[in-house]
Amino acid sequence: MQQNWQGSLVRRLLLILGASLTAGWITGLYGWMVALGLGGYLLWILRELLRLQRWLQASQTDDSTPPPESNGLLGEIFDNIYRLQRRNERSRERLQAVISRIQSSTAALNDAVIMLDNRGNLEWWNPAAETLLGLKADKDTGQPITNLVRHPDFAEYFRQADFHEPLELASPVNEQLQLQFQITLFGNNDHLLVVRNITRIHLLDQMRKDFVSNVSHELRTPLTVISGYLETLLDHAEQLSPRWLRAMQQMQGQANRMQQLLNDLLLLARLEASDHPSEAQPVDLCVLLQQILNDARSLSAGQHQISLDVSPGSQLKGSERELHSAFSNLVFNAVKYTPAQGSIRIRWWSDSLGGHLAVEDSGIGIEARHLPRLAERFYRVDSSRSSSTGGTGLGLAIVKHVLMRHSGRLEIRSKLGEGSTFTCHFAPAALAAQAS
Ligand code: ADP
Repeated sequence: MQQNWQGSLVRRLLLILGASLTAGWITGLYGWMVALGLGGYLLWILRELLRLQRWLQASQTDDSTPPPESNGLLGEIFDNIYRLQRRNERSRERLQAVISRIQSSTAALNDAVIMLDNRGNLEWWNPAAETLLGLKADKDTGQPITNLVRHPDFAEYFRQADFHEPLELASPVNEQLQLQFQITLFGNNDHLLVVRNITRIHLLDQMRKDFVSNVSHELRTPLTVISGYLETLLDHAEQLSPRWLRAMQQMQGQANRMQQLLNDLLLLARLEASDHPSEAQPVDLCVLLQQILNDARSLSAGQHQISLDVSPGSQLKGSERELHSAFSNLVFNAVKYTPAQGSIRIRWWSDSLGGHLAVEDSGIGIEARHLPRLAERFYRVDSSRSSSTGGTGLGLAIVKHVLMRHSGRLEIRSKLGEGSTFTCHFAPAALAAQAS
């Protein structure tokens, strides 16, 4: 093909030159005749280019028109442009088919898929987004998502731009629907927002919470009666045979443990009932930690060296009862899991990152593989070890929930055989102004 047009180009030029020279020989005007021949050739090229231009213009509206017929080099150019055009058209059709498939599959999704630009303005969404969030195609395009999902928690989630964890909220169009929002960043900081309807999971979780809370309540009364009778019987221990005395004492020990378990389960159920602490008063940490220190000293019965380091006037906004529960769990664990003669240090400090409470012990420590699961309910490193210390396995779960409700987090560092440090970190906003 390439040989063809090259040959025909050479032949054509030779022909024009030959004809011009012949005419020059006849007329004696060689220069003029060659110029005339080349000028004619140039005009012909111009005419072909004009046809090409007209065809390109026409094919913008109707791409089925075939290219103008020509031969030689220009014919080759026309054909190549046509082939290129056809290839582009086929790629466009393939792309269109892929887009249509993506659109119809996202349209069939029950989850809402929403594309936002890097400033959080709506670009595109699927039909489920209209049902779950009430978006309207005609008027919401280009609107900031925070104008349409107006919940303060969502605005905060979007502002903080920490999308590792999803956010759960009720639907803005139907309070009965519980939704889970998850944002993923892509491209030039654009946002892909996926909203799942988790109403069923939410209801099941609510049923689980209610079940645990109801069972704990129901078990409390019979257990109080059993404990009461055991106590009365043990008050008259001298009338019991040694065999029965031992059995009664063991029964009382287990009844006390069960009572502690029920109390912890009820406390967890209360903590799970809402996301925020029941109150947000400034809590005097000196008083709170001193109380916990005294209790820890009586639990330790002088077997540990326990120190407290907190500057006077330190305060934290939150629920005193909940914070007491969380901090005392950490301190009592330190006592329980530190052998006699060990040391325990309780320390509060604040800096630009917020407030921090560290409970450091020189105890038995924990293997690194247990650390990620430690705050799960009933997770124990060694169940035999825990039952001997009278633990319920719920202490750290309570700590985690209390911290979550106070926008805090728990950090655990530990080395087997060397000791552990449990640190509660609170955001700067949780720090109450220093009391003078
Ligand atoms: P428990 O009631 O069993 O103490 P927790 O939830 O308070 O339950 O703690 C979970 C597990 O973490 C404990 O069983 C224990 O093995 C481990 N643990 C907690 N605190 C410490 C600590 N200071 N030193 C060593 N192990 C600890």
